[in-house]
Amino acid sequence: MRILITSFCLLLSFSASAESCLYGISLCAKNEACIKTDSNTAQCISHSDRLPTVSFPMKARAGIYCDQGNLSPENNSHSFNNTAYALDLVSNRSADSGVAIAASEGTVITYSKCKTKNDRCGNGFGNYIQILRDDGYLIFYAHLDEVFVQTGDKVRVRQEIGIEGTSGLVGENHRHLHFSVHFNWKDLGLETLKNNIGWLPNSAPFKISNIDSRDFKCTRITGQVNWFKFY
Ligand SMILES: [Zn+2]
Repeated sequence: MRILITSFCLLLSFSASAESCLYGISLCAKNEACIKTDSNTAQCISHSDRLPTVSFPMKARAGIYCDQGNLSPENNSHSFNNTAYALDLVSNRSADSGVAIAASEGTVITYSKCKTKNDRCGNGFGNYIQILRDDGYLIFYAHLDEVFVQTGDKVRVRQEIGIEGTSGLVGENHRHLHFSVHFNWKDLGLETLKNNIGWLPNSAPFKISNIDSRDFKCTRITGQVNWFKFY
């Protein structure tokens, strides 16, 4: 997601300490980050020191760029508790490069009713896939044009599950995959996730190919993009 969205950021704010902070300015304690819980409020939210590991979520690795990383500048979309550690991945549209693949095994919840572009369908996430892992982490893919799996399906690692796209709030003509990992989905429960479109537990930092997701320097600055290329 690339546009400031306030509505779904109000839905969940558990595991936040009471300590409020100024986004982009305040320092928080070790294993915490200052993350927005709504458009006007930020809190020091804790994360685990042991990061969950996932594999690369797109079929072709060459030719994939990241144009928005974690904790993006205020008023960009990766500053909220449900998006804070997301990566926006953009393919160069060569063969297979836009194919999303399962970064972990698990059981999926999908939403695939969006037929339009760049709007609030799917609570702004467009067509999406959530992979629910046994260890409680949830892997999230948003803005898909095609979804190959259905709610209840079990997926294996590297299984093709969808195609990056322009559904939901992507910014005009900005085809990409919004990819993120989230804390314990079991706190919300399967039925709650199935019945509330676009709800997510807090965003979690993660490791992808042994690299800390926070080290991908693909911060989007309004009006310009600092591209990070995956090799
Ligand atoms: Zn995004």
